[in-house]
Amino acid sequence: MIDLHSHTWFSDGLLSPQALVQRAAELGIRQLAITDHDSVAAHRRLAPIDIPTDLQLIAGVEISTLWDNREIHIVGLFVDIDDAPFNSLLQRQQEKRRQRALDIGVKLQKAGITGLEDYLTALPCEAISRNHIADFLIEGGHATSKQQAFSKHLGKRGRFHSTADWCSISEAVTAIRAANGIAVVAHPDRYKLNRVKLRRLLAEFSEAGGDALEVSYSNLHPDKMKVLADLCCEMSMWASVGSDFHTPHTTWMDLGRVRKLPAHCEDRALWLHPRWETTDQGGPTD
Ligand code: AMP
Ligand code: MN
Ligand code: MN
Ligand code: MN
Repeated sequence: MIDLHSHTWFSDGLLSPQALVQRAAELGIRQLAITDHDSVAAHRRLAPIDIPTDLQLIAGVEISTLWDNREIHIVGLFVDIDDAPFNSLLQRQQEKRRQRALDIGVKLQKAGITGLEDYLTALPCEAISRNHIADFLIEGGHATSKQQAFSKHLGKRGRFHSTADWCSISEAVTAIRAANGIAVVAHPDRYKLNRVKLRRLLAEFSEAGGDALEVSYSNLHPDKMKVLADLCCEMSMWASVGSDFHTPHTTWMDLGRVRKLPAHCEDRALWLHPRWETTDQGGPTD
């Protein structure tokens, strides 16, 4: 099994990098990409001894970008985590995350909700996420669920909403490519784009040097997966597969809980990409 999209506690995941790779190995994953939001800290913390022998760990990231006034997530795989321009982009993104959290903290304070800064400081993360702020609101009794925390408080129409001036898609792709990575559009159906706009997004992404789109991921209806597979073929892109795992508690997004690629785009599977790197341990997928 293969899973090319997952998070640790260095962004908004629940598990340490060590616990994540252990869980992946236990679930029979042979190739795992850790793709934290705007951070590669997990990859710095993992030592060779932490990686189970039959698991290939892929250095990855998920970069938040702005396109047409929407947040689009770009995954980078096989990135050189020591590449300087790539790291400076991540640092700028992390700073934007801190600024946004401060801004939300001020809005919360005005509504009489205090303590966000202390709550965030105690977390192990490098990239602060609204997901953490949602947890803070739930723990304080200000929201009953993640969904509600976003719809009522943190989402576009939420009362404490705050935007960040993320980098552009082309900046993200350029940085990933310069760090020898493969760039992938994450979960394309979550942006609520119509077909025409999604095509335009993919065309601009490809033009900027992007390679692939996620065709199979958690909770994606098979009909929608087919639409994405068709688009992948039409746009001559590569097809990626990833659960977007954050926590074992969300069972339908567990590691490896993704459908196989539809037969008509199997030959576009990302692991057939010429820049895909294999290891002795990993071997061919599936
Ligand atoms: P951020 O990267 O700070 O903008 O936070 C977005 C993260 O929050 C995403 O990566 C998801 O993990 C999570 N998230 C976003 N929207 C929702 C939602 N409606 N319900 C639950 N989690 C969400
Ligand atoms: Mn997340
Ligand atoms: Mn995402
Ligand atoms: Mn993700």
